[in-house]
Amino acid sequence: MRPPSGPGGGIGRVKERMRPRRIGVMGGTFDPIHYGHLVTAEGASCEFQLERVLFVPAGQPPHKEPGTTSPAAHRYMMTVLATLGNPKFHVSRVDVDRPGPSYTIDTLRLLQAECGEDCELYFITGADAMLEILTWKSAEELLNEWQFIAATRPGFRLEALQAHLGPLWERCRDRIFFLQIPALAISSTDIRQRVREGRSIRYLLPDPVVHYIYKAGLYGADPDAMTDDFLYGCARSAGADAGAAAETKSVAEAALPSMRRGGR
Ligand code: NAP
Repeated sequence: MRPPSGPGGGIGRVKERMRPRRIGVMGGTFDPIHYGHLVTAEGASCEFQLERVLFVPAGQPPHKEPGTTSPAAHRYMMTVLATLGNPKFHVSRVDVDRPGPSYTIDTLRLLQAECGEDCELYFITGADAMLEILTWKSAEELLNEWQFIAATRPGFRLEALQAHLGPLWERCRDRIFFLQIPALAISSTDIRQRVREGRSIRYLLPDPVVHYIYKAGLYGADPDAMTDDFLYGCARSAGADAGAAAETKSVAEAALPSMRRGGR
């Protein structure tokens, strides 16, 4: 669902040039970031003609008990690794560096001041997260002042958000846009559980992030799970050619048995 824009030719083109710059603000806990998030950001960027998308990992997610998420430094690092390849994607430390809960109203006020009043900010997040937006700090001001792009997982029911917003829905429906993202069948919760159970998480998130999770031992990751195939994949994704990656694999094959016996 696109926001309104001018007609294609003549005056429309002039208007288009004068149109305020649109910037996407991709808010989330990103514990960890995965392809569902990246597809959401890319989809929003194309559909809404965003100049860039600023990923903003929450420092302390307001609705989560402190200590129940991975440290912000890890979530920030994983977000940087995942977004490096896209020149339109940037990562902001605005929430990570700020003490206390990362209220979205404060985030958007700070970013609006940074980007300038001539910028239109679009807050992008999961539609599921927005189902509780009335519990957020200064919810009405948020909905009146900024635009929202809600990424929906398969099976999302719009009526649930309408019911949550009640009479506010009619007043702010022009500023809430929906984006269907089938890739959001991937979820951070599922990825964390897979790591805990020693199941594969490859192809659910970028390889450098997979590598980081194992290296940092996040979510109870077992470094023994770094099998030869896994190392081969990581070496390839880090830019190694097939020959060098195969060498990494054979070194790993030789080293893994003794590592597993505890000789690390
Ligand atoms: P969450 O409760 O962990 O996530 C709710 C759902 O939305 C999950 O299914 C989640 O999937 C999905 N989701 C979250 N961010 C997404 C994104 N950027 N794109 C697509 N799907 C996304 O929500 P959260 O991540 O902690 O919070 C979302 C944003 O809302 C953050 O920026 C947070 O600061 C803000 N928020 C603000 C307040 C407030 O101001 N009081 C309160 C709550 C949330 P995954 O688990 O797979 O990511």
